[in-house]
Amino acid sequence: MGIPIYTYDAIIVGSGLAGCAAARELQSAGKKVAVITKLHPLRSHSGAAQGGVNAAFSDKDSVELHEFDTVKGSDYLADQDAVEFMCKNAPETIRWAERMGAAFSRTPDGKIAQRPFGGQSSPRACYAKDRTGLTLLQTIYEQAYRVGVEFWDEWYAADIIYKDGKVSGVVAFNIRDLQVAVFNAKSVMFATGGYARSYKINSNAHANTGDGLSIVARHGLPLEDMEFVQFHPSGLSGNGVLISEAARGEGGRLFNSLGERFMEKYAPNAMELASRDVVSRAILNEIREGRGVGPRKDAVFLDVTHLGRDLIMERLPELRELAMTFLGLDMIKEPILISATAHYSMGGIPVNIAGNVRKNNSQYVEGFYAAGECSCVSVHGANRLGANSVLEALLFGRFVGKTMVNEIDTIPLRAAQEDDAKRALDEINFILNNNGNETITQLREELQQCMTANAGAFRTKETLEIAIAKVKELRKRFKNIRIKDKSKLFNTELQEAIELGHMIDYSAFIVESAIARNESRGAHFREDFNTRDDENFLKHTMAYMDKEGNISLDYMDVVLGKHELKARNY
Ligand SMILES: Cc1cc2nc3c(=O)[nH]c(=O)nc-3n(C[C@H](O)[C@H](O)[C@H](O)COP(=O)(O)OP(=O)(O)OC[C@H]3O[C@@H](n4cnc5c(N)ncnc54)[C@H](O)[C@@H]3O)c2cc1C
Repeated sequence: MGIPIYTYDAIIVGSGLAGCAAARELQSAGKKVAVITKLHPLRSHSGAAQGGVNAAFSDKDSVELHEFDTVKGSDYLADQDAVEFMCKNAPETIRWAERMGAAFSRTPDGKIAQRPFGGQSSPRACYAKDRTGLTLLQTIYEQAYRVGVEFWDEWYAADIIYKDGKVSGVVAFNIRDLQVAVFNAKSVMFATGGYARSYKINSNAHANTGDGLSIVARHGLPLEDMEFVQFHPSGLSGNGVLISEAARGEGGRLFNSLGERFMEKYAPNAMELASRDVVSRAILNEIREGRGVGPRKDAVFLDVTHLGRDLIMERLPELRELAMTFLGLDMIKEPILISATAHYSMGGIPVNIAGNVRKNNSQYVEGFYAAGECSCVSVHGANRLGANSVLEALLFGRFVGKTMVNEIDTIPLRAAQEDDAKRALDEINFILNNNGNETITQLREELQQCMTANAGAFRTKETLEIAIAKVKELRKRFKNIRIKDKSKLFNTELQEAIELGHMIDYSAFIVESAIARNESRGAHFREDFNTRDDENFLKHTMAYMDKEGNISLDYMDVVLGKHELKARNY
């Protein structure tokens, strides 16, 4: 079959909060927009966000405090100009979402309710019960749909058209029948979300396989700060399904096998509400030192029973459901078993505040933008604070949409050709026809096990060397795969193979960036270099991949500002 070419003003890949917010901006300004998404928009991982979205607008809070908490939480790696921009525009973003129709939970006197989250000086997370992300996603998707954005649901973006420093479209295929098409546009935005699926224990949706990052990296473009993967303190024991920080925000307590409220040792002031990296390492340390609970002694207790049935049913109903479904434990009556789970990725496609994708430290790619979790504008630095990510996706999604509106008329359309689909077609044909003896499930399992064991919340040079060797080995073995399903109808095995290829590529960035960072900062904790080293490592990693999959590293300055470097204690 021939390859259709569709032409738009702008193409957005991803229909989570970032993608939908950007698409709505563009379409409302009269631009013709297509959103390509491998999921139905409402199944995007944004819809899984439970806890909240930050904005400083109560009497006891201030934008300055929000900035300070974010910069401190980031272990001073965040770019302070980006943090200022985000915190300053957060209250207006919440009001905008509310005007769009999002129903936030309220205080008795009718104000938007806010709950405490880790690492924050004031209750700052606005929420809709514990279904914040879903409420927002339904609202913003509806509004994007209403203004006429075209959604290409269940289309898989496999490549970008990138030539001469300019992106002029996307190559995608219909998941239903493998029809490949070229989407030609003046500007393209990636909003492809997170990528914690390369870890065995993780809180992410199956779709979070980092496609956007690897597609970009395969064209020799950089990825920033990939060593910083966040481990959330409370994943359900055994499978990592998330129990939102809202549980600790509402007053949940952590206990070890001796019945000790062990956070007293690690963060005597903030206790359970220290930042995520601190609480996760505390939990893992209790387990390592033999004070774990549960049948395998690989968990700790999270106890909310003292909050009482009414409060739990009012504010944490979804979390209670999850613990009952997966562990058979009712948090109204008993503590539940949790441990750290791979959750969020601070690193990603490097962008400036306006959302332009960086070609290197000083140049940008024309017509190419990114926002949301796949991007790294560096508001989170080395560690993200809870409820700052939904904010990032909404706020930067919307503002990057505005940038695209402003820049689009200055960008000439470069006509695409059928030939532009060659790379994607070669990949599909290789996977369909290759006749080796490796299976996708086996390779993925080995990758995930290895990343969890060797590139997790604790790392050393030795463990990272194991991980680097394993990722290289998996890249070789991937050339020898064979899939059983050769059909063109909903070939999920083929899709999983493409996704595994992406996971292998960005995992190489994680481990190579991590082994070179001989310090501990935020979520990156090196047991062999267990302190922060501002002298040598107050800088962003910029990593590049060559055609053979080798990674080379460069570094970029951190944008400092009024919040001065300090030791980080909670
Ligand atoms: C369980 C959980 C709870 C969370 N809770 C909170 C919280 O309470 N507060 C908070 O601030 N943050 C929270 N986060 C983080 C936050 O939800 C995300 O970082 C944020 O929603 C990401 O939004 P996004 O728009 O960037 O991406 P997503 O919502 O993940 O959307 C990604 C989109 O990209 C599309 N896509 C990806 N690859 C392709 C491809 N190859 N082709 C086509 N389409 C593609 C997908 O279809 C999807 O539409 C949570 C995360 C998880 C996992």
